Amino acid sequence: MTAEIISGTEIRKAILAEVKEEVDQMKEKHGKVPGLVTILVGSSPASISYVTLKVKTAISLGFHEIQDDQPEDISEEDLLGLIDKYNNDPDIHGILVQLPLPKHIDDKKVLVAIDPDKDVDAFHPVNVGRLMIGGDEAKFYPCTPAGIQEMIIRSGTETSGAEVVVVGRSNIVGKPIAMMMAQKGVGANSTVTIVHTRTKDLASHCKRADILIVAAGVPGLVKPEWIKPGSTVIDVGVNRIGMNEKTGKAILSGDVDFNAAKEIAGAITPVPGGVGPMTIAMLMKNTLKSAQYALK
Ligand code: NAP
Repeated sequence: MTAEIISGTEIRKAILAEVKEEVDQMKEKHGKVPGLVTILVGSSPASISYVTLKVKTAISLGFHEIQDDQPEDISEEDLLGLIDKYNNDPDIHGILVQLPLPKHIDDKKVLVAIDPDKDVDAFHPVNVGRLMIGGDEAKFYPCTPAGIQEMIIRSGTETSGAEVVVVGRSNIVGKPIAMMMAQKGVGANSTVTIVHTRTKDLASHCKRADILIVAAGVPGLVKPEWIKPGSTVIDVGVNRIGMNEKTGKAILSGDVDFNAAKEIAGAITPVPGGVGPMTIAMLMKNTLKSAQYALK
């Protein structure tokens, strides 16, 4: 049996089309559109390329988008002042500060300065707390875990009562997705185990997973024989394992041996083209949600 391939590229397309439709309706009904500001400090090529993609996507959806580029030497005080300005701007529903920030600026201070109701990345401690409470309290979910849950739902995988094993316990992927899958609600109600480097016998946990979510950053960590036949495997890992000499681009691999695993799993995400493309779609969805909350 060959697994269904859960394509993040295709699901992203569908989500962005849905967001666009809702933006058009909002504009027609309320004369308003979601507003997103992307704050980029400095000129790191990687940050510029991430921000450019976010800006382009926001514009293509009809958002009110402000790209606010600031010099590398902006003071922490001035950056906090800028965030305060956008916190108080009723046309802005999402504030995104591209990380990493220069060393003289304290990331944590900046992230907590964002109004939690405009924190579309959902890294603010208030939003972490809301995620833990679950239900209506959780306004936004962080984008990568939100993308993972969306892929699980759209692949038709049953989550209620399912054994979910999450490999990795980071604040941006492992811990939030584990908590989201354990909550009451659609695409959740699962029995969740988190495993990490101190776990004894990683294989035995993975083998009983109906849904295996791997976010370790270790290429080939999950062996094909650890995969339960028919299970859903979400490979979050993005590892550079070489360079394509012809294109000059990095060769990427996940944390799971995809070619072998797809012969055992029921559904699986590829790398690239799996979880990666979902993150930006969920960022746009969070910004739309924020604008919808503001209209209530
Ligand atoms: P991280 O902060 O480095 O956390 C990795 C986690 O995996 C840690 O909890 C670590 O355990 C665990 N781990 C590492 N090696 C392990 C092993 N041999 N056995 C068991 N557990 C192990 O990484 P992250 O930020 O969560 O990212 C994980 C991967 O996802 C990376 O490849 C990253 O590039 C990728 N990622 C992709 C996206 C996307 O596609 N949009 C977004 C975010 C991350 P300890 O806590 O015990 O050290």
